[in-house]
Amino acid sequence: MRWENLTVESGGSEGSDGHSRAADAALFGADAVTTRTFDTPEFRGITFHEVRARSVLNRVPGASRMPFEWTVNPYRGCTHACVYCFARKTHGYLDLDTGIGFDTQIVVKVNAPEVLRRQLTSRRWQGDHVAMGTNVDCYQRAEGRYRLMPGIISALTEHANPFSILTKGTLILRDLDLLAQAARVTDVGISVSVGFTDTELWRTVEPGTPAPERRLDVVRTLGERGIGCGVLMAPVVPFLSDHPDRLRETVRAIAAAGATSVTPLVLHLRPGAREWFMTWLGQHHPHLVARYERLYAEGAYAPRWYQRRITRQVHELAQEYGVGPTRAGLARRIQAARAPEAAEPPAVSEPTQLTLM
Ligand code: SF4
Repeated sequence: MRWENLTVESGGSEGSDGHSRAADAALFGADAVTTRTFDTPEFRGITFHEVRARSVLNRVPGASRMPFEWTVNPYRGCTHACVYCFARKTHGYLDLDTGIGFDTQIVVKVNAPEVLRRQLTSRRWQGDHVAMGTNVDCYQRAEGRYRLMPGIISALTEHANPFSILTKGTLILRDLDLLAQAARVTDVGISVSVGFTDTELWRTVEPGTPAPERRLDVVRTLGERGIGCGVLMAPVVPFLSDHPDRLRETVRAIAAAGATSVTPLVLHLRPGAREWFMTWLGQHHPHLVARYERLYAEGAYAPRWYQRRITRQVHELAQEYGVGPTRAGLARRIQAARAPEAAEPPAVSEPTQLTLM
């Protein structure tokens, strides 16, 4: 990965986490990083590495398998801090820690809107669908301060370029008017990720995210504004959120929020996420460790019989509660996009890994 030079700006406290610019150069392969912290409760303990990207349109390798051929990811790392997050491994590509470092060392492409605007005007650009939120959440807390998404949405709208967003962040409602405007000129697919409604589980396994009910409020509000929103019911966490009663509660709440679709996705544990999740499991649910080792003995995915069972149960519940069928939208593309376990590592300028939150 290569970053352009960045002028150090005033504000915040540069390098207060002990990183020197030389250290950043080692981290990111350039002396073009401003390290910044903010002394507010919201951002305490978080370090932002502000960089200027040369390109923000990332091509997903193996597009025949992955229906998202192009993605835009203004951030790396995610303060939502989901223990199971599949993007943890990508922090390792930056020589950053994939555990707590993923939650607290956030790379911000501060020039993402202007670079995207330039790239969209290129004669080589064919106006393909652009997916956002497929690596890390573009509406994580940092977006409240950096406000990159309004510029990104505006650029896509100006070019009537179709796009989709997958998020757990309620901050997306800040951009409601822009999204409504975009939906008038192009295809806009929004999906919110809500794997379960169990408050206790949410607090421990997704500690930095808005509560599931708040996320469902997003679904409701978008619907009221005429922007259909699907729910990616992900992850379904084996033995913790997969009891038929829990599945029923979750699907019922998703239906009540007016979701246009519900797409279940069982937890998968790729390297990077697996170690972090299993440590968490050992601390919070030690009696489940052996069962997980058996269930995920073959690799990153739960066995097919288990996945099929969950899918069938959720589809039956969706029918019972009247959730609309999965439309030709983001949710279905996400389901189709499940990467094979043995997928080759991406051969792109920026390591891309779809998290499918
Ligand atoms: S799963 Fe999504 S919201 Fe959670 S930490 Fe990963 S990128 Fe952020």
